[in-house]
Amino acid sequence: MLILVTNDDGIHSPGLQALAGSLGDLGRVVVVAPDRERSAVSHSLTLHAPLRAEEVAPGHFAVDGTPTDCVNLGLHGLLAERPALVVSGINRGGNMGDDITYSGTVAAAMEATLMGVPAIAVSLEAAAFTYEDFLPAAAVAAELATAMLTHRLPADTLLNVNVPAGPSRGVRLTRQGKRRYGDLVVEKVDPRGRKYYWIGAGGAGFVDQPGTDFHAVHHGFVSVTPLHLDLTNYRSFAALSAWNFSGWSQDSGLGTIEPGAL
Ligand code: MN
Repeated sequence: MLILVTNDDGIHSPGLQALAGSLGDLGRVVVVAPDRERSAVSHSLTLHAPLRAEEVAPGHFAVDGTPTDCVNLGLHGLLAERPALVVSGINRGGNMGDDITYSGTVAAAMEATLMGVPAIAVSLEAAAFTYEDFLPAAAVAAELATAMLTHRLPADTLLNVNVPAGPSRGVRLTRQGKRRYGDLVVEKVDPRGRKYYWIGAGGAGFVDQPGTDFHAVHHGFVSVTPLHLDLTNYRSFAALSAWNFSGWSQDSGLGTIEPGAL
């Protein structure tokens, strides 16, 4: 059985090495990962430049592209067979709540899901990120991968896994939480007297609601959030179709929702 491993922190990340090591017990692991740090590139795809893949070690390909490029290139070019699973991570830092939309780690799993391959994204929410710090999360990833291969994921679903530092208190099935955003742009002046700005200089915390990814990890549990790529807000259909707006076509609205989606 073939498992494709990727990440967004780059092929030299200890998180990726710990993950590839633990998944090696389940099957043959091939790594296709960015050749450098590509965090927060989200689901970007390189369409207007060539991509190079260098086999830096047997079965380890470093690509000068994004995590999404790596999955795409892995599935359609580098791998001789279709993998049974794509696992992305282990990311240096959590990918929870609204931060998921920026995440290259999660986007790699999204790309695999779009290609019909079961996928997990794994992130470690911790203060230290040595190889040893990633080992408990790597063990959790291998356990979840085994469960996924046994039970099969529902269609169009990927698992976003966030692991707290150290030994965890168990695993919780969670929903996506809410981050609080503050004044995150820092304005400074460079040595030539010109202003510059730095985004994301400090996290503003999160809404501590039970049932969410943040809440589980904050309380020492591994968080497993099933995600899908349908961004439609079905709950808004009733409110929008009630607008006094003459432009709505007769056949738009709730009638277009697939049965069972609500
Ligand atoms: Mn990252």
